[in-house]
Amino acid sequence: MLESLANEMWGEPLYVDSLLSHKSDGILIGGVGGIPVETIRADFPILSERVNGRTIIFLDNAATTQRPNCVIERMARYYSREHSNVHRGAHTLAARATDAYEDARREAASFINADQREIVFVRGATEALNLVAHSFVKPYLKPGDEIMLTALEHHANIVPWQLIAKERGARLTVCPVDDSGQLMLGEFERMITPRTRFISMTHVSNALGTVMPVNEAAAIAHRRHIPICVDGAQSAAHMPIDVKAIGCDFYAFSGHKALGPTGIGVLYGKADMLDRGEPYQGGGNMIQDVTFESTRYQAPPQRFEAGTGNIAGAVGLAEALRYLRRLDMNAIERYEDALMSRLIDELRRAPGVSIIGGDEARRVCAVSFNVAGIQDVKVGEALDRAGIAVRAGHHCAQPGLRRFGVESSVRPSISFYNTFDEIDELARALRVV
Ligand SMILES: *Cc1c(COP(=O)(O)O)cnc(C)c1O
Repeated sequence: MLESLANEMWGEPLYVDSLLSHKSDGILIGGVGGIPVETIRADFPILSERVNGRTIIFLDNAATTQRPNCVIERMARYYSREHSNVHRGAHTLAARATDAYEDARREAASFINADQREIVFVRGATEALNLVAHSFVKPYLKPGDEIMLTALEHHANIVPWQLIAKERGARLTVCPVDDSGQLMLGEFERMITPRTRFISMTHVSNALGTVMPVNEAAAIAHRRHIPICVDGAQSAAHMPIDVKAIGCDFYAFSGHKALGPTGIGVLYGKADMLDRGEPYQGGGNMIQDVTFESTRYQAPPQRFEAGTGNIAGAVGLAEALRYLRRLDMNAIERYEDALMSRLIDELRRAPGVSIIGGDEARRVCAVSFNVAGIQDVKVGEALDRAGIAVRAGHHCAQPGLRRFGVESSVRPSISFYNTFDEIDELARALRVV
């Protein structure tokens, strides 16, 4: 009975143990027919860790998420049974490692509705954005050209552009957001000039949690024949992603913010875009033939993957993405929306709390606030004493916070393994800081 229930829920019997050993608290991810959140929590060993005498309440998911057992076990299995270098050597282990790595590429591709040839493995969103800047934009950039960003970018989607702009005498233009943290789409269209060569924008703001209209932005960009890159570091694990539906030319995300390991990330590039890129780094794996005079490169994606990649990381990431897909990204989005509504309601009522950007706009994963008369770091420390992990600081988005007149904030950020009880616990702790 339980086994068939598990089969129904997960599509495979791997998780029967966690179903048997943990009772539901009655809250289902995805509503009727969904998965009890307590069942899911049992898959994440770190969620039972104790911090300052309390079971941890982990609300720092915009900085990094936690790993389910299946990811930890998959990486251990890779290292115990399959590890070798990939693509070279014709021995059995090399074949196993290559299969595992290329299977991970297929999984990453289908997670965002791309083709496996459009997936470049990188260290994370940061490296993905640097790669796009150096391989696809810098070679075409001339003095006076413009690269457009938005006011709510992570530093990883500002600094690489600044570096290449400086090198080429180009400049950055920044599309504003309104007082609720929403992109001003009219301005976006008006600010595109004949000198605009490239647009790069976040999908979800890591500081405010507001969602950018990337589909509309991509359509506008393409009407003007400008390629557009979407920084998906804060969206990939929180909503279904279909890069074809968005219509972007590039989409970047980090494994560690999507239940996967650190040091692995994904850059999606449209096939015809990838064909046009210059190599990012040189070395093994990315070449077809080398002489001291010249080198012929591999076709994409290998052309952009110099050296030995993070094979175990890719394998672990693929397992993480499978786990997310079994849960169903639509169900995750609905459940997290409900958690976010509760969180914003509680913050609205909490004494002295002001939510940055107000409480009108939809938030995904993260929300930022200040407490009147108390430094953000002090709020963070008080919450930590209550076993609650949140981020206090500038969240690598200084220009975005300054737009709202603050230098820092307290930022709780959720995942689908958080519960309504944990949100209530945060609200209680905030009343006594
Ligand atoms: C975290 C983050 C990044 C950078 O990701 P890394 O994993 O540190 O490379 C880029 N953009 C956004 C919006 C982020 O939240």
